[in-house]
Amino acid sequence: MDLTWTTQSWWWQMGDIRGFLKHDRALPARRPVPLRLLDWNEVYQDFPPKDLQTQASRCMDCGVPFCHNGCPLGNLIPEWNDLVERGHWEEAIERLHATNNFPDFTGRLCPAPCESACVLGINQNPVTIKQIERDIIERAFSEGWVSPVLPTVSTGKRVAVIGSGPAGLAAAQQLTRAGHDVTVFERADRIGGLLRYGIPEFKMEKKFIDRRLAQMSAEGTRFEVGVNVGGDGPGDLPVEELRTRFDAVVLALGSTIGRDLPVPGRELDGIHQAMEYLPMSNRVQEGDIDEPAITASGKKVVIIGGGDTGADCLGTALRQGAEIVHQFEIMARPPVERAGSTPWPTYPLMYRVSSAHEEGGERVFAVNTSDFIGSGGKVTGLRAHEVRMAAGRFEKVEGSDFVLECDLVLLAMGFVGPEREGLLDGLGADITDRGNVSRGTDWAARVGANADAGVFVAGDAGRGQSLIVWAIAEGRSCAAAVDEYLMGATALPSPITPTTMQMR
Ligand SMILES: Cc1cc2nc3c(=O)[nH]c(=O)nc-3n(C[C@H](O)[C@H](O)[C@H](O)COP(=O)(O)OP(=O)(O)OC[C@H]3O[C@@H](n4cnc5c(N)ncnc54)[C@H](O)[C@@H]3O)c2cc1C
Ligand code: SF4
Repeated sequence: MDLTWTTQSWWWQMGDIRGFLKHDRALPARRPVPLRLLDWNEVYQDFPPKDLQTQASRCMDCGVPFCHNGCPLGNLIPEWNDLVERGHWEEAIERLHATNNFPDFTGRLCPAPCESACVLGINQNPVTIKQIERDIIERAFSEGWVSPVLPTVSTGKRVAVIGSGPAGLAAAQQLTRAGHDVTVFERADRIGGLLRYGIPEFKMEKKFIDRRLAQMSAEGTRFEVGVNVGGDGPGDLPVEELRTRFDAVVLALGSTIGRDLPVPGRELDGIHQAMEYLPMSNRVQEGDIDEPAITASGKKVVIIGGGDTGADCLGTALRQGAEIVHQFEIMARPPVERAGSTPWPTYPLMYRVSSAHEEGGERVFAVNTSDFIGSGGKVTGLRAHEVRMAAGRFEKVEGSDFVLECDLVLLAMGFVGPEREGLLDGLGADITDRGNVSRGTDWAARVGANADAGVFVAGDAGRGQSLIVWAIAEGRSCAAAVDEYLMGATALPSPITPTTMQMR
């Protein structure tokens, strides 16, 4: 395809520059709540292609597309909106794949900071960018347009990518396509990182990961599961062997230590980290086990943490048949409209209702848990109180104490960095004061403030807990740095600049 033609024609030939005056934003319907609680399938129904084309026509050729900046990958959004509107779906996937290895993941899971930056969103509802992205890639897979992109050279350089989440997979795909011999090591029994074990099936069905892995394997990327790099168990890969077998190493380890709540009673049975709970449910869906060892079935559940991980616990607990679920959040309830502190085009602080929130449970804001209550070693309740902000700190609202009965507590308060024992200690890697692997703008890990030649860091392990779109962008940029290190120059794109490297 002649990409130059597409780029140039976009300037003066948007399909319908008045589309935004004629049509309002629309999204596909979500399946009815009572039905979707009976299964684990994705929540959204299909959108007729004609309706999607109408939505794409709302992109208004604004001239300075802030959505490019809103997207950490720099996706060429107006170009593929225009191509979709005209029915040029195959060209649309080429433009989308030019900047994003995995629109199948982001089209389902991204919180779409691009839409918050859409110029139409200044005074109207923004373009449904994420939905258009999802439908372009689904159309491409169903038409057979997604095929392996085979490398045209072989450099003979060996690269180990450690961790198979979106950062590791993006780095591996870029490096394989650049001609390197890439092996992805994963300590879990399946590839995918949090996409596989963490994010529930109802947000993204796992068959979509397998479909991508088939493409990557055909391109030449090798995968080894059940290998804890830096570990000393059978089948693990010791640090010394890692260094001698490979010319470069990418650490894409994720941010795996969950923030804890060290209050009295924390040791009681029935209090678990979200990431002890969610993967079991993924395993039931994979067919590995019939029943999860930790289940919300028939239980009074409290989820501590009001973010995405908490919402995933909520949707999972409701599908398991919890009697009642409360989700606690220490921050005050955000405003319904964009807060003044987060003006356009930034990602807005505002009250969001995820699909899990539609399904049930009670959200409690501005609340802090002071201790857990138990009987016979098991949690039976918790004591909490309301809080308010005073001089930048949370302050207890006197007289607001209450007790809530519960027999399952899930801690979903974020993550504080990757584990150090084994690999990171073995490499001698520096850790930042935020708990992440220290790295420079050259993406190289730091040891005693110096670059560790040949060891690079991508994704949540370096950035801290973040998003899939950032992980993919990091994987792409890190791959460019690795390629340059190995070959002296690179033609691989790098969406992240030294400035955006620090953003969340
Ligand atoms: C429950 C949950 C839901 C989320 N939902 C969303 C969402 O809807 N949208 C969104 O954008 N983001 C979401 N996120 C965040 C997103 O999943 C992460 O930002 C993203 O997965 C980070 O990618 P990564 O590749 O850096 O790490 P990860 O996906 O965490 O992958 C790291 C991998 O490295 C492996 N590993 C670590 N150490 C070793 C070792 N020594 N040897 C071998 N393997 C190792 C781990 O087993 C893991 O598989 C969610 C996070 C959680 C926890
Ligand atoms: S990856 Fe996310 S931010 Fe980028 S265009 Fe897609 S939905 Fe928007």
